[in-house]
Amino acid sequence: MNIDKILMTPGPTNVPTRVLNKMAENMIHHRTDEFGNIFKEFNERLKYVFKTDNTVLTFPSSGTGGLEASIVNMFSRKDKVLVVSIGVFGDRFAEIARMYDIEVDKLDVPWGKGVELKEIESRLTDEHKALIITHNETSTGANNDIQKIGNFMKNKKQLYIVDAVSSLGAIEVRMDDWNIDVLVSGSQKALMSPPGLSFIAVSEKGWEFNKRSDIPKYYFDFKKAKDRMDNELPQTPYTPAVSLITGTNEALKMIQEEGIDNVCKRHERLACMFREGIKDMGLEFFVDEKYQSNTVTSIKMENKAVDIKRIMEEEFNIVIAAGQGKLKNEIIRIGHLGCVDEEMINRTLGALKQAVKKI
Ligand code: PLP
Repeated sequence: MNIDKILMTPGPTNVPTRVLNKMAENMIHHRTDEFGNIFKEFNERLKYVFKTDNTVLTFPSSGTGGLEASIVNMFSRKDKVLVVSIGVFGDRFAEIARMYDIEVDKLDVPWGKGVELKEIESRLTDEHKALIITHNETSTGANNDIQKIGNFMKNKKQLYIVDAVSSLGAIEVRMDDWNIDVLVSGSQKALMSPPGLSFIAVSEKGWEFNKRSDIPKYYFDFKKAKDRMDNELPQTPYTPAVSLITGTNEALKMIQEEGIDNVCKRHERLACMFREGIKDMGLEFFVDEKYQSNTVTSIKMENKAVDIKRIMEEEFNIVIAAGQGKLKNEIIRIGHLGCVDEEMINRTLGALKQAVKKI
């Protein structure tokens, strides 16, 4: 990408020129065949990235809207769920569920780690209606082993709900093969598009839960959205975010051209390259090697994170993130996802080396 200022944050990420150009086109009326055909193609592309045969619903919201929508559409008040939290976004999922009067059993894992399957095995009971978990915890840069947990969830009566906001399109996720019932993601991270769309796919088992759900919903009603998607040419119940859809459709096309498996391999290769560079500088990771993410790397920066972030932006035109919550000034988080290449990784490593010396 030939741009001066680059986003090496965990999201929003750099948006390719092809996507920007698509979004600059004139408006399409949404109740037309023209839009229906684009939306149909868009859905097929989302299914390809989700690795699912299930319909993927699209809502105009950021990722948090997708998390909330999955709660209000799957559960009834007083249901009990097990939420695994390994950081800010696991905490958020639990908080949303509590807001809707759902009884939350929370499995808290120390920040910087992922959960071990045996912890889930010993906590999940027949009383729970679902296991809710974050794939890639963006606040720490740690991963949960969604595949391993998914194998355990096979044929369980509980729903398996996964927040893949900062992993889908960069780290392998196979919704159908890994027994995921509700998979949530968003436009502004690995999918190389501006913020504003959430994507949610629901399994057959998930739709059974949806039939019984008594939590009020209107705009985020999955059934209404699905009914409109099942038209010969799919539609949305309300006016869709047309430009975000056409833009993200172009980004998905780029992913298809590269091939989703190659995209994931590229992320793995660049993440390894980045981590090697960090090790060479003698800096310390926040996350144990076993759980390290291929989309975001957290580096310990005791009391210096905010200054490093400022220097990176002001002097090197590279936007990175500091920590979140209690880690605000303790770690920097560098995103290497979406529209990212070796040159950007090298530029970031070079700048970080100099920034660290200045503090
Ligand atoms: N879940 C994860 C793992 C995230 O990384 C984020 C955003 O960073 C969210 C949920 C919330 O998404 P948004 O900020 O788009 O509402």
